[in-house]
Amino acid sequence: MGNGKIALKFFGSGGEVGRNAILLRINAKNILLDSGVKKIGNREYLPENLDSIATKIDYIILSHAHLDHTGFLPFLYNNGCRAPIYLTRETAELTRLILEDSYMIRKKTNQKAPKPWKIYPYFRRISYYKLYELGNNLYFKAYPAGHIQGSACFVIGDGNDFIFYSGDYNTRDLRTQKKAVFPAENISLAITESTYGGKQDRLPSVSQRDKMFIRIIKETLDSGGDVLIPVFAVGRSQEIFSTLYAYYIAGEIDLNEYNVYFEGTMMEKATSIYNIYNNFSLSFLYDKEIGAFNRVDYRTRDKIMRNKQPKIIIATSGMISGGSSPEYLKYIASDSKNTLLFVGYQAEETVGRDILLGINPVRLDDVYVNIKCRVSSVSFSSHTYYPLTINFLRKIKPERVIVNHGTPEKAEQLAHGIEQLLDVDTILPKNQETVFVDI
Ligand SMILES: [Zn+2]
Ligand SMILES: [Zn+2]
Repeated sequence: MGNGKIALKFFGSGGEVGRNAILLRINAKNILLDSGVKKIGNREYLPENLDSIATKIDYIILSHAHLDHTGFLPFLYNNGCRAPIYLTRETAELTRLILEDSYMIRKKTNQKAPKPWKIYPYFRRISYYKLYELGNNLYFKAYPAGHIQGSACFVIGDGNDFIFYSGDYNTRDLRTQKKAVFPAENISLAITESTYGGKQDRLPSVSQRDKMFIRIIKETLDSGGDVLIPVFAVGRSQEIFSTLYAYYIAGEIDLNEYNVYFEGTMMEKATSIYNIYNNFSLSFLYDKEIGAFNRVDYRTRDKIMRNKQPKIIIATSGMISGGSSPEYLKYIASDSKNTLLFVGYQAEETVGRDILLGINPVRLDDVYVNIKCRVSSVSFSSHTYYPLTINFLRKIKPERVIVNHGTPEKAEQLAHGIEQLLDVDTILPKNQETVFVDI
């Protein structure tokens, strides 16, 4: 590239899933790649020492709206950061939603809560595929990452050679996301996530996934039980709605006989953002003629749940920690005809993880609940996984790869695979470590 040495300081995401916050020093400029926090149970872990250099950041590039990539932004601007934040328009909308929700939770739990709206004037909305100039002979471009609405992988460089930064990405076509797009530029260095970087990690194809999902739902409904699907508000719930609707339209599941109920303010707000910017619409949720999907709130919840007609309930949060999903679990847990159907990752110290570990009874707020219902899990992940990551990197031909955003074991296995199969040197950064690379 002729840039000589670049430096990358990892304030987070080294040997851990999330908390992406990487300071890239290139051509005498400081570019922060994401600014996330890590959530374990109700606790948030901030990137250490990042606020002390808040005023030295020249630009921020944001891959997508998830909290593990955006949650620290209000803290940075509270500490004097005034850098422009480059992000897609969908990421701008979803980031506002997610940060304001996080702000309310922080306030409720008496944690430090800098105001997220202070950062909005610094948003610079960008388009995919367009080359932007930062000055000092530095350019960047966003490519669709296929992870959630608005998610982007970035290339950053001098116009000839580039660094590729993946954020979180997915290399398969899903119902609500098209797969990540290969960058066209020469890539000297790639930074890739490794959430599913374990050598044995495989995810079901979309058709396998859907078949398992629908089979479990039909088995439960046909035997007179209810299905509770806890979902994440942004991304996962929209994929679930779209899947159910597709099978309903195909005549494979009768959603007039078995109604679908959904509850979650943030889920609805996120869905409306999907509706505006996507080339498909989830307006069927509110279509009275279709009549299959029904909105519930805390006032109508009890009446719905006392109705014995088998039903599907879709409620946030995805890990049954917060939101209305714990309330629904209290209704369905005691009956073996019912099914609790997980469709996403269950992080440490969440009720969802406890249930998957077989802990029984589980604690929901101040009550203990016995889990007698069936517990199933189908992965609707929108991440890449080991063989697909290797294939993606094979296509973009980086000279070197940094592996982040994964547990130490998964990051190491992916790095090993890249070295063996692609004959490319890899780097496994630790948090607080600065990595120097010649490019
Ligand atoms: Zn992430
Ligand atoms: Zn993500």
